[in-house]
Amino acid sequence: MDYDVIIIGAGPGGIFAAYELTKNDPSLKVAVFEAGHALEDRVCPIDGVKVRGCIHCKSCSIMSGFGGAGAFSDGKYNITNDFGGTLHEHIGRDEAIRLMEYVDRINLENGGEGTKLYSTTNTDLKKICMQNKLQLLDASVRHLGTDINYVVLKNLFALLKDKASFFFMTPVESIKKTADGFLIHTKDGDHECRKCIVSAGRIGSKWMEETCRSLDIPTKSNRVDIGVRVELPAVLFAHLTDELYESKIVYRTEKFEDRVRTFCMNPYGSVVTENTNGIVTVNGHSFDDPEKRTKNTNFALLVAKHFSEPFKDSNGYGESIARLSNMLGGGVIVQRFGDIIRGRRSTAKRITENFVTPTLQAEPGDLSLVLPKRIMDGILEMIYALDKIAPGTANDDTLLYGVEVKFYNMEVDVNENLETAYKGLYIIGDGSGVTHSLSHASASGVYVARKILE
Ligand SMILES: Cc1cc2nc3c(=O)[nH]c(=O)nc-3n(C[C@H](O)[C@H](O)[C@H](O)COP(=O)(O)OP(=O)(O)OC[C@H]3O[C@@H](n4cnc5c(N)ncnc54)[C@H](O)[C@@H]3O)c2cc1C
Repeated sequence: MDYDVIIIGAGPGGIFAAYELTKNDPSLKVAVFEAGHALEDRVCPIDGVKVRGCIHCKSCSIMSGFGGAGAFSDGKYNITNDFGGTLHEHIGRDEAIRLMEYVDRINLENGGEGTKLYSTTNTDLKKICMQNKLQLLDASVRHLGTDINYVVLKNLFALLKDKASFFFMTPVESIKKTADGFLIHTKDGDHECRKCIVSAGRIGSKWMEETCRSLDIPTKSNRVDIGVRVELPAVLFAHLTDELYESKIVYRTEKFEDRVRTFCMNPYGSVVTENTNGIVTVNGHSFDDPEKRTKNTNFALLVAKHFSEPFKDSNGYGESIARLSNMLGGGVIVQRFGDIIRGRRSTAKRITENFVTPTLQAEPGDLSLVLPKRIMDGILEMIYALDKIAPGTANDDTLLYGVEVKFYNMEVDVNENLETAYKGLYIIGDGSGVTHSLSHASASGVYVARKILE
């Protein structure tokens, strides 16, 4: 046996599993295999001047490497069972919250001290939302910000590097069951372990699917969220973001009764691109440091699409829509709300003259050529609903970037220990389909580490 535990993926799930294992049993031999770079080597070449769009690096530094997809994120740790994953369905609501609070404490001990915890408890905004056919979901949100989030990751790596063996730029190619554990195959050789924790995240979704197929582990997938990222003057949302930082607001459309929701709100933030398996979509983040803030707030508006039998490839559907926007715009498309309403494309001139200055250099175009009517109608309806609680949302100058797709990893069949039918093989984090967020993924890492320690 080379290792007691091998962890695949050094995103929040893998990091917190390694943290909990090595802290509680320093005698354990733990290895972490990561397809991407070490934290300090993670650099996205897009500088907005020489490199303006995604050049499809071998390892995407935004999605891969120590820190996983969350490394350059806004570092919003939502402590809630209302969104961010269905961890509570496996481990219970109280345990899930306890673990998220534990993760929060570790983040604070490792550089996050002094960052603000926002909460929806006792807010009047809930009533105002209700009066306007909107629902505000309950949560506490720790906002680390992109800068502090990076510091926390740096400190966690400093803590772990001598306690576990890290192998960067070493994607695991396959997992095989052996008599006493598992054989992990990489291009640089094979490694044996007693227990294996897989935390491959969103970027590892295709590999995860193949792995489950080869090990005959059942999976299911029937959901994808599709929409746009909205960018507007921060002052229009300040009454919400100052109090709650991130408000998760849900709206049910009149016509199709689809659920549209706000997602990943970034006050005074920037819109960025995201590359998942070669498909360029849009995302956003913001800094804790006031000097790095912009004048805009951005958030996604996503329409949830659940498919029924016989269709199974929900991610394929989302990918096709994202590919269409990549085909038309060479990447992300930006359009003024006023242009959408007038049924015309945005042009470079209209974007330059727009009152809201875009924080991402995207291709001016026409999102109605990309998004299915049902999804576009849902987004427009929600913008008008939001306009009632944050007047100005439906201004002509509001910018819409597309497309934003929230791919859901297929759900892997795991039990209440997040363990597969193979004893000792755990699948956690976003790669399991059970979590979709920093806090839930991190909590799942702590949870399986404790199960192994037991
Ligand atoms: C731009 C951006 C902003 C975000 N902002 C937020 C936010 O503010 N709040 C929030 O809650 N969530 C946010 N998210 C989502 C959040 O980052 C993820 O939910 C979280 O990182 C999931 O953690 P994970 O450990 O499950 O997977 P990941 O963080 O995706 O990590 C998985 C790791 O596994 C590695 N890997 C994959 N396959 C293999 C393999 N075969 N061998 C070895 N290594 C492999 C990958 O390289 C990756 O580093 C954001 C995501 C992005 C992209």
